[in-house]
Amino acid sequence: MSRKPIIAGNWKMNKTLAEAIDFAKAVKSAVPADSILDSVIGSPALFLAPLAEELKGSNLKLAAQNSYFENAGAYTGENSPAAIADLGIDYIIIGHSERREYQHETDEEINKKAKAIIANGVTPIICCGETLETYEAGKTAEWVEGQITAALKDLTPEQVSSLVIAYEPIWAIGTGKSATSTTADETCGVVRQTVEKLYGKSVSEAVRVQYGGSVKPENIAEYMSKENIDGALVGGASLAADSFLALLEAVQTQQVAK
Ligand code: PGA
Repeated sequence: MSRKPIIAGNWKMNKTLAEAIDFAKAVKSAVPADSILDSVIGSPALFLAPLAEELKGSNLKLAAQNSYFENAGAYTGENSPAAIADLGIDYIIIGHSERREYQHETDEEINKKAKAIIANGVTPIICCGETLETYEAGKTAEWVEGQITAALKDLTPEQVSSLVIAYEPIWAIGTGKSATSTTADETCGVVRQTVEKLYGKSVSEAVRVQYGGSVKPENIAEYMSKENIDGALVGGASLAADSFLALLEAVQTQQVAK
């Protein structure tokens, strides 16, 4: 089964508006309308509207880095998934380990967000991943299975088929210590097996699974060569336009050579 690769940058809390627009101008023309991969930038919410305007007609897509699970109401400081959808944004990242850690987001909230985002016609990129302690205790598979089972609760097979799930070991995020491609593939495989257990084979073969954690232009082709890895969620190496372009190019080359 061939799944369309998806490379998503996660800028986290970086850039000014001018820097975000400069990046979009530098990258958008390098993503052809018939690109063999989905290229996505996860921007701070502040820049989504002007970036969407700048990227009109381009095949470089946008992701929000989070949203709330209600569409409107007295939730000071939150961003509505309906308002994000209204801007024409294609993806919303949810459950990133930094949000789980610093904002104390729970699996239950992440599940509510997934449902609200899907109801608004946007694709969630659901993050999962274990701490170094869990990894060293050999408990990665059960941890990831638990996170995915909770995040997908009550979603339909059709909804899960079109999701993106990002496996990001916390010990590999921003540390320069990436997981080996074998380890990354194994745990992305755990994600897929969990989906299979819950929804059956055809859904597990359709869902796209990314690896994230110190992915760079130099190592992305190796990850993409693995059976269970359909893309990457990239932090540090997505910040500079030339580095992001090098990531896209490495994936194109690898896919064409396959
Ligand atoms: P990194 O971040 O590529 O800088 O390790 C990945 C992420 O947190 O999504």
